[in-house]
Amino acid sequence: ADRRRSGTSRGPGRTSDDHPVKLLLNIGSAADLRATGSPAGRDAPADPAGEGRGDVASEGVGLFRTEFLFLDRREPPGYEEQVAAYEAVLRAAPGGHVVIRTLDAGTDKPLPFLGLPEEPNPALGVRGLRVSRIRPEVLDTQLDAIAEAARAAGAEPWVMAPMVTTAGEAADFAGRARARGIRHVGAMVEVPAAALRAGRLLNELDFLSIGTNDLSQYTFASDRQHGELADLLDPWQAALLQLIADCAAAGQAAGKPVGVCGEAAADPLLATVLVGLGVSSLSMSAPSIAPVRDSLAAHSLAQCRQNARLALGADDPAQARKLVMPG
Ligand code: PEP
Ligand code: MG
Repeated sequence: ADRRRSGTSRGPGRTSDDHPVKLLLNIGSAADLRATGSPAGRDAPADPAGEGRGDVASEGVGLFRTEFLFLDRREPPGYEEQVAAYEAVLRAAPGGHVVIRTLDAGTDKPLPFLGLPEEPNPALGVRGLRVSRIRPEVLDTQLDAIAEAARAAGAEPWVMAPMVTTAGEAADFAGRARARGIRHVGAMVEVPAAALRAGRLLNELDFLSIGTNDLSQYTFASDRQHGELADLLDPWQAALLQLIADCAAAGQAAGKPVGVCGEAAADPLLATVLVGLGVSSLSMSAPSIAPVRDSLAAHSLAQCRQNARLALGADDPAQARKLVMPG
């Protein structure tokens, strides 16, 4: 009955002609997974049709924002506490696929225990992976805890860093993660410099995940919180789509996955454009999964590619939305 009621909103993401697109969840904790009603453990009975579950039937977690564990605290969470939190997510995740993002903090998302000096321009300062220049032990402890949680849960998480800017940074991060036995190492693409050199980043990494919220902010030089600049931050902007296209092409050339985990992935029609540009997964909050799945199921891969061409060719977001027709 459940399946009938929700139409095509179950099962893996696919275009109408069966091109697979992984549909993944953005979460901040294991509690977020429980809220979607996902199976309690990875040994939950196999239930491929998804019947009898109240879950959103995503194919895993595409973005686990670990900073929620660190917020509102005087001291960082200890090693054991981190292991427990990561293990809980690895055990609860649907399909066992989990992409863990290392701590994204800095002077724009301040954490008192990091002891970072105040900066005049926090969004352009020491944030994300850059914190490891000043406090390398925070990242090393987190990677140790992720590796331990993975062993305890018998899982192989994918691990990525936020705010990676150069291939050199990617190589450094990958070295530190691989030294701990983490096998799938990636980076978020949030800085235009990283998108422009996506191929070089992929020489060092196994996957990329495009964070369109920050990639818009840095491409359009517009604070992502700034209401007056919402038109510049619109994810239908062709300059943003061009950078996504370049990343996806680099991924296809390297035979490595490139996904989108920013807000852009949650727009059902824009999702067809992103798939047409060549991205292999879309990660979003739980309520968006079913509408995005339905939209992809109503478009062939050729229609997605046509939508991508139309959106890239548009003069502005309004024209792009008008040109790209629902399937
Ligand atoms: C992004 O920047 O698009 C992203 C997914 O990361 P966050 O929103 O956590 O900065
Ligand atoms: Mg971001």
